[in-house]
Amino acid sequence: MFTDLRRDCTEQLLELDADGYAIGGLSVGEPRELSLEMTEASAPLLPADRPRYVMGVGMPKELPEYVARGIDMMDCVLPSRNARNGYLFTTTGRVVIKQTQYKDDPKPVDEACPCYTCRNFSRAYLRHLFLANEITYATLATLHNLQRYLDIMREIRQAILIGNFPRYLEAVRNAP
Ligand SMILES: [Zn+2]
Repeated sequence: MFTDLRRDCTEQLLELDADGYAIGGLSVGEPRELSLEMTEASAPLLPADRPRYVMGVGMPKELPEYVARGIDMMDCVLPSRNARNGYLFTTTGRVVIKQTQYKDDPKPVDEACPCYTCRNFSRAYLRHLFLANEITYATLATLHNLQRYLDIMREIRQAILIGNFPRYLEAVRNAP
């Protein structure tokens, strides 16, 4: 978490003339602001015509923040791990599937989601599978969360293509 050391490291990595560059050590429990600050220290020094990749991030709202700092790729356990633990990401916020409010809920996890899980199963059924420790739950929930992450990256790409990314970022920041 020392910007001068990150810059030194980045400059030495540039000598490798690699096909792409990873920025790591930013998902080990430090505050998110610090993670973004360290990304800001490294990303601008890396060639813009090669993939710039931050390892191990992040929450859905954080994805456009990294993109805004020049990052092309991220990877993270969150969509699958949170899915297995009952936390589902949606276009309108998080669904904690074990909650009693979903006991008889016939709606899909996210009505705006085109995934297999949302097209075929209700919140009530997924909650039942979760509480019964059915492995099918983990598969269906992971399918949904991965779809949400891919949709977010599609939204970001689309916003960039039509020159709307700053407004997209602002909307994500202001969302509850
Ligand atoms: Zn879905």
